[in-house]
Amino acid sequence: MNSDQDDHHCDILVVGAGAAGLFAALAARGAIGADGRRRNVPANAPHVVLLNNEARLGLKILVSGGGRCNVSNGHVDEGDYETDTPRVLKGLLREFPVESIRTFFESRGCRLQQEALGKLFPCSGKARDVLQTLLASVEDAGIPLIAPAQVDRLIPPASESLSWSATLADGSRWQANRLILATGGKSLPKTGSRGFGLTQLAQLGHTMAPPVPALTSMRLHPDGPLAGLAGLTVAAVLTLSPTRVEPEQLSGARHRPLARAAGSLLVTHKGATGPVAFDVSGACQRALDGADDVTLRADFWSLSESAGVWSEYRGQPKPPGACLQPKLTPRPPTRELFEAQAKDLFAQGDRNLAVALSTRLPRALVGGLVRAAGLDPDIKVKQIDTRGRRQLFLALTQVDLRLQGTDGYEKAEVTAGGVLLAQLERRTLESRLLPGLHCCGEVVNVTGRLGGFNFQWAWSSGYAAGMGAAAQFA
Ligand SMILES: Cc1cc2nc3c(=O)[nH]c(=O)nc-3n(C[C@H](O)[C@H](O)[C@H](O)COP(=O)(O)OP(=O)(O)OC[C@H]3O[C@@H](n4cnc5c(N)ncnc54)[C@H](O)[C@@H]3O)c2cc1C
Repeated sequence: MNSDQDDHHCDILVVGAGAAGLFAALAARGAIGADGRRRNVPANAPHVVLLNNEARLGLKILVSGGGRCNVSNGHVDEGDYETDTPRVLKGLLREFPVESIRTFFESRGCRLQQEALGKLFPCSGKARDVLQTLLASVEDAGIPLIAPAQVDRLIPPASESLSWSATLADGSRWQANRLILATGGKSLPKTGSRGFGLTQLAQLGHTMAPPVPALTSMRLHPDGPLAGLAGLTVAAVLTLSPTRVEPEQLSGARHRPLARAAGSLLVTHKGATGPVAFDVSGACQRALDGADDVTLRADFWSLSESAGVWSEYRGQPKPPGACLQPKLTPRPPTRELFEAQAKDLFAQGDRNLAVALSTRLPRALVGGLVRAAGLDPDIKVKQIDTRGRRQLFLALTQVDLRLQGTDGYEKAEVTAGGVLLAQLERRTLESRLLPGLHCCGEVVNVTGRLGGFNFQWAWSSGYAAGMGAAAQFA
C-alpha cells in the first residue's frame, strides 16, 4: 500500500531516458522546435519528469557506432525501415527530419560530419559528446531526471479525467496526465533495456509484432561454404526465401523473398557479420522462431558486375533500401543474364577457372565455391560445358549459406517488432486503445537498417510523442 509521501505528481511522465525518452521530454517541455533549434521553455510549459531504471544514463548511446554514435544518416526515407505502416512512418520522419537533428546537435556545439553511406557522426568521434549534449539540454529545460527509478507497472486511469500511474520497484508511485513510454526493446539487456515496455503494452491489450533480435551477426553451419574463411570480407547480396522455392525461381518476377540486402559481408569463426548480414538478421530470426523452413542464399557475383542488376546503384550514397523492404531491391540475375554478363569470364578460355574468377572475387572464396558446385577449380575455362555453366551460375549467385541462427539479444543492436504503428495516432503516437499513453523509440514496430536509421527513428518518434503529449497543455 502506498503512503501519500510516496505519491508524486507531474503533468507528463517519461519512462526511459534513452535517446527517444530524452528527446520526448525535451519536446514535451517545449525546448525544441521542429527545425531542431533551441526554444525558450514557456512559462506555462508542462511539468515533465524523466525516470530511468539504471543509474548510469545513456549506456546504449555510449556503446553505439563503436563508441562514436552514428546519430543519423544523410539519406533517410521510409524504405530504410521495416514497419507495419510505412505511410505513417514517412509522415513522422518528415515532421522531424535529419536536417532538424543536425541543427539540434550543431546549434548546441556538437558538430556532425557525414561519412561513407551517408552516416552522420559527431566530429569529435565521441558518443559521449552526443549524450552530454542531450543531458545538458534536459537540465537546461528544467526537466528532473530521476535514476535509478525502475518502473514495474503502468496503470491506466479508471476514467479519462484521472491520471496514469506508474509504480516503482521501491514501492513509490508517480501519477501524470500523460505518460510517454520509451523503455526501448530487449537488445543488449545490460544497458537497462529488458523489454519492460513491450510486455506492458501487450498486457494492456495492444497488438504487437513479435519482438526479435535484429542487426546482429549470423550463425552458419560449420561445414557450410564459408567454413575456414574467417576474416574474409566480400561484397554480397543476401536473400532469405522459403526453402521450397527452387534456386532458379528466385529471379522470377512472382517471387517475393522474405528479406534481401546488399553490402559488405565479413566471415567470422561462427558465421557472418557486417552490414549485409546485420540487415537480414531480424528476418532470419523471425523465420527461425516461426519454425519456417528457410534458406539464406548469397549472390557473390552481382555487386562485382559492372552491367549487373545492382550496377545502377553503384556510386549512389546508399544501396537501395538495403533492404528491409525486399520489393524495392533488384531481382537476382537469371541464368541467361548471368551468362551474358559473364562474357569476359568465358573469354578467358585458356585460364584456370579459379584464376579467371579471382580477378573479381577473393581467391580464398573462389576455390570453395567452385568445388562445392562440383567443378574443378583448375579446369580451363574453355572446357566448361553447358551443365558446368549452370553449376557455375548457381555457385556464384545462389550459394546456400546454411543458416543456423543469429547471435540473439545479447549482441543485437536493436529489437525488431513492438507495438504496431497502426495502433498509435499517426502524428502524436498516442495509443488508440488507451488515451494519454504515448510510445516512442524501439517499443514501436519500426526497425531501421544499419547506418544511423534507428537513432533517427528515436529522435523523430520522441519528438512526435513529446509534442503530442504537450498538446493537451497548450
Ligand atoms: C551496440 C549497439 C550499437 C548501436 N549503434 C547504433 C548506431 O550507431 N546508430 C543507430 O542509429 N543505432 C544504433 N544502435 C541502436 C540504438 O542504440 C537504438 O535503436 C536506440 O538507442 C533506441 O532508443 P530508445 O530510447 O528507444 O531505447 P533505449 O536506448 O534502449 O533506451 C531505453 C531506456 O529505458 C530505460 N528503461 C528500460 N526499462 C525501464 C523501466 N522499467 N523503468 C525505467 N526505465 C527503464 C533503459 O535503462 C534505457 O535507458 C545501436 C545499438 C546497440 C546495442
